[in-house]
Amino acid sequence: MATIHTSSKKALTVKPEFFSTIKKFGAFDVSACFSCGQCTVACPLSVSGNEFPRKLIRYAKLGLEDKLLSHPEPWLCYYCGDCSTSCPSQAEPGEFMMATRRYLTSRYDWTGLSKRFYLSHKWEFGSLIALALLILGIFVFANITGISTMEGENVSIDSFAPKEWIHIADLILGGTLAILLLSNAFRMFYYIILNDKSVKVPLKLYFTEIRAYFIAGLSLVTQFKWSKCDNKFRWIKHLFLVSGYITIFSLVVVFIDIFQVDDTRWDITSLLGYYSSAALLLIALESMWSRYKKKEQVHKFSHTSDWLFLILLFLTAFTGIFLHLFRLMNFTYPTYIIYVIHLMIAGPMLIIEVPFGKWSHMLYRPLAIYFATVKAKARMLTAT
Ligand code: SF4
Ligand code: SF4
Repeated sequence: MATIHTSSKKALTVKPEFFSTIKKFGAFDVSACFSCGQCTVACPLSVSGNEFPRKLIRYAKLGLEDKLLSHPEPWLCYYCGDCSTSCPSQAEPGEFMMATRRYLTSRYDWTGLSKRFYLSHKWEFGSLIALALLILGIFVFANITGISTMEGENVSIDSFAPKEWIHIADLILGGTLAILLLSNAFRMFYYIILNDKSVKVPLKLYFTEIRAYFIAGLSLVTQFKWSKCDNKFRWIKHLFLVSGYITIFSLVVVFIDIFQVDDTRWDITSLLGYYSSAALLLIALESMWSRYKKKEQVHKFSHTSDWLFLILLFLTAFTGIFLHLFRLMNFTYPTYIIYVIHLMIAGPMLIIEVPFGKWSHMLYRPLAIYFATVKAKARMLTAT
């Protein structure tokens, strides 16, 4: 590690090992970058004041970790791959952006688990298996103590997994994930704003610019920024996937009383359930096929976490469909068994992916847009 002083008398800490640290998170060929800037020109989301990816690659190569941590741009990238297609030296800048987001996720996470999950297969697979066994253990315990009963005649999911217990589990899970995510968000705020000595943000700007956060949240739902990328199909796919997530999350967490039923009646929640299952299943299958065939630019390189996420998503939707079919056909024991298997897949996926993995970008991306806006305003105020 070395410290250098710039002309503006601000000290910069140089960490020579930083570049290889980022590469461990998946930026394979970025060392081929000769800083021509073609990727920044090609990027449809790079704008004046928040240019990327060339600048960020430069910081990484120079070992300027604090600089990279203070920039919200990695989260402004939607991973369309246009920059990688345009790069004359196949340095894969899109992959670099993805690897940087994994690295940042691990830095925001104070528990250190995210880093372990990204860099160690033993930790990632071991934790998924341990959580799945914990869920199995809870059902065994509930059955032994009589909290859960298995009716032999007709399927009764409400006896097997009483809604009040599912509500309590939802609250514990949601509360834990919220605490982890909010504390990570505060660390993101620290790195991007508090620790960036080049700009001081007046308190009132956080309130006057809050609109940027809500607009960013809305664009997360519509995924509108994808439409600026060359491959419009990715926008449609991502929109379909996000709408599937939001639908199933709302059904399971908010509307469990009307979603988890024992009879065969059909209502709007059944249709919404079919919609979200189709979205998760089809997009997971299509993405796995594309990654296997390396069809799209952004699917040429796959980190283990990419595969794991898609496989878990596919299995969650797949077991959810069988659960529904077995219940409709009144297959009692197969229904209970697949119910437990379904939760043994969906539960660990949520616990690992939401605060420590890929899904955390749903929190970080709107925050990054908000932080970028308040920083830009603060700089304008300082300049005038
Ligand atoms: S990543 Fe490629 S396009 Fe971008 S600056 Fe480096 S060499 Fe140029
Ligand atoms: S992947 Fe797309 S959005 Fe991300 S830096 Fe490259 S061109 Fe820009």
